[in-house]
Amino acid sequence: MSADPLLSVDSVDAGYGDTQVLRDLSLSVDAGEIVSLVGRNGAGKTTTLRTIMGILQPTSGHVTYNGADISALDATETARQGLALVPEERRIFPDLTVTENLELAAHGGTADDSLSVAEALEMFENLRERAGNSGSSLSGGEQQMLAIARALVSGADLVLLDEPTEGLAPYIVQDVMDIVAALNERGITVLLVEQNVQVCLELADRNYLVDQGQVVYEGTAAELEANEDVLDRYLGVTA
Ligand code: ATP
Repeated sequence: MSADPLLSVDSVDAGYGDTQVLRDLSLSVDAGEIVSLVGRNGAGKTTTLRTIMGILQPTSGHVTYNGADISALDATETARQGLALVPEERRIFPDLTVTENLELAAHGGTADDSLSVAEALEMFENLRERAGNSGSSLSGGEQQMLAIARALVSGADLVLLDEPTEGLAPYIVQDVMDIVAALNERGITVLLVEQNVQVCLELADRNYLVDQGQVVYEGTAAELEANEDVLDRYLGVTA
């Protein structure tokens, strides 16, 4: 018998005003997993992360975290429960130094097992070298690292990563993947949105394919890779 999932999204409808984006969407993430959401532009992946985080509230269905219904919580409240969203645009403070960016994120942290700022700088080699530099002076890859590091020092147990490799040079993509794998080894659970299917196939334990606000396929990397029809139909790629 398996334990209850850490995160469970059950039959969720959500959207923006009158525009419904998610339609009866369900997924689950077990503690310690890396799970990916893949799908074409506009499929509803970012909207799924926003709904889990509480930036949007579902109009129907439920989001459950650690056994508690968090559907009605806002983003501040879900953060207190141990969720962190690293949005596509990264949102670091450009005028603050790397260390100050981390200290600000650590400020609200309540979890005993959260990473200290010093530990985060130890783990993220690139950031350690630039600890006193301003956020705006960092490269795209370093900004992504800082955004992920901020989620860790905030004490998150579940990190929602929205396209962490977007716009990064291939050699930096590998660094970001290494960091995601390293934080997962520290016990952090990851739900990852990616356009880069290769990143998902390499990192994720399981993958959900999202199309028009619904989950249309679920499988491991091996299952997805073997299913050229699904890859072609929903992603327009072959692995
Ligand atoms: P992308 O890779 O382009 O971000 P996605 O799968 O993450 O794709 P979403 O960003 O969740 O897709 O968008 C799903 C749908 O919701 C799209 O049709 C988009 O136009 C619409 N949408 C997104 N944000 C808003 C908003 N703030 N107001 C209204 N509609 C929105």
